[in-house]
Amino acid sequence: MYDAGCSPQMYQNQGKSFDFPDLTSELCPQCKGDFLKKHGFYERYLITIGFEGEIIIRRYYCEACKKTVSLLPSFCHPKRTYSILVIIGLLTEFYIRMSAVCTAVLNFFKTTDVECTRQLLLQYRRRVEKNLNSLIMAVTEIHALRSPPVTEKRDIREKVRQFLSTILNPQDESLKIFERTGRTYLTPQTI
Ligand SMILES: [Zn+2]
Repeated sequence: MYDAGCSPQMYQNQGKSFDFPDLTSELCPQCKGDFLKKHGFYERYLITIGFEGEIIIRRYYCEACKKTVSLLPSFCHPKRTYSILVIIGLLTEFYIRMSAVCTAVLNFFKTTDVECTRQLLLQYRRRVEKNLNSLIMAVTEIHALRSPPVTEKRDIREKVRQFLSTILNPQDESLKIFERTGRTYLTPQTI
């Protein structure tokens, strides 16, 4: 993940002529056994506030472990069609504004014109609640806090609310969490 430094629309407009970071002098992040080689692009669909469409993603390949590495702009969430801003916006509507699930989805649509389903919000909730402890640890480290910003111990909804209150720039925080842990808000945790 990296900061593309532009909006999804500008990123899409530039297509393959976008100035992608060059990782050819970097060792494979998975095995460190070889330098990465450019390996074309793939298309993915992105839905965010004010933009929806196909964007291309630069790919690299490691000959040692035969794995590909994708260079994802930080407005994207790995393996999710909806952007970081949509995911955190929807969760904020539910946890911080304390809306019921259907009200949260409806309010989000009214304010952003982005349509999500209740099932999707449910998926996001399950995942963020599962990842919560490691997310709290990550933001505590990132902001060099002496104690975690979440004081609630039991009520999971309140815990997530406190966590989300610390996320002022969702995209920036996502990138920092990713750089620290290799995962972000909704990435499944490997056991
Ligand atoms: Zn490798």
